[in-house]
Amino acid sequence: MNATADRANHPCFNPAVKGQFGRVHLPVAPHCNIKCNYCNRKYDCVNESRPGVTSTVLTPDQALVYVDRVLEREPRISVVGIAGPGDPFANAEATMETLRLINEKYSDKLLCLSSNGMNIGPHIPELAALNVSHVTITVNAVDPEIGARIYGWVRDGKVLYRGRQAAELLLRRQLEAIGRLKAAGITVKINCIMIPGVNDQHIPAVAEAMRDLGADLFNCMALFPNAGTPFAEIIEPSKQELAAMRAKAEKFLPQMRHCTRCRADAVGLLGEDKSGEMQGCLSACAT
Ligand code: SF4
Ligand code: SF4
Repeated sequence: MNATADRANHPCFNPAVKGQFGRVHLPVAPHCNIKCNYCNRKYDCVNESRPGVTSTVLTPDQALVYVDRVLEREPRISVVGIAGPGDPFANAEATMETLRLINEKYSDKLLCLSSNGMNIGPHIPELAALNVSHVTITVNAVDPEIGARIYGWVRDGKVLYRGRQAAELLLRRQLEAIGRLKAAGITVKINCIMIPGVNDQHIPAVAEAMRDLGADLFNCMALFPNAGTPFAEIIEPSKQELAAMRAKAEKFLPQMRHCTRCRADAVGLLGEDKSGEMQGCLSACAT
């Protein structure tokens, strides 16, 4: 962990500080290595985002300049995160270089990542060495039969897998990654999208398996039925249904209940997002 960063100051992991500290997301990861059936690639990663076109993608150098400018305007930022708009490790070179630059200059900031877990494995030792303290992995199923209904395909290098094979490979990578992240001393949150009729009955089993792996926090999120996706016609779970599911999952892991499904270029306090205000700054850094 960073020498001077206090893990407790992460507003996503600690609701007690969500009114004091904020985060900035660096949109350096445009590509993805899997296809979730709820994702529309025109939009930000649903792992952490509400639908909305990401305004800009930055290079690592541009991302560093952007952090400089954001911190001048919003000193309450305690966390620098990478959450898409694709997956950080489908863009591993850009992600790792960005983390190196930020860690070198801002050792007082917490570093955070959100990933589907497919390709994070080989990078875990360096993530720990770079003081990445918090990682979110989205796990929607621990049964490959259910996973096969959620993922259109999974790409491993040049090989594309579909169906059960794809779901099995992704799940294997996720389970390995979560175990290794915990062994490296990294705090792990699990995001799980509640998809009515697909995985909703299965979510407590996901929470139980994640507890067994040592995960720290569970964030059950409602499906957002994105237009143009295979899940476009599924009705979004109601607030009551989501609350009931969280109560079931809470038997196994503490629940995150203050998630704001932020964009891949989110910035500011949770619930007080400044991404609109910072958009000019973001685009200026991209040129
Ligand atoms: Fe979309 Fe994120 Fe799933 Fe990739 S991991 S397909 S970007 S929701
Ligand atoms: Fe980290 Fe996700 Fe919070 Fe971003 S929204 S700072 S990636 S936990």
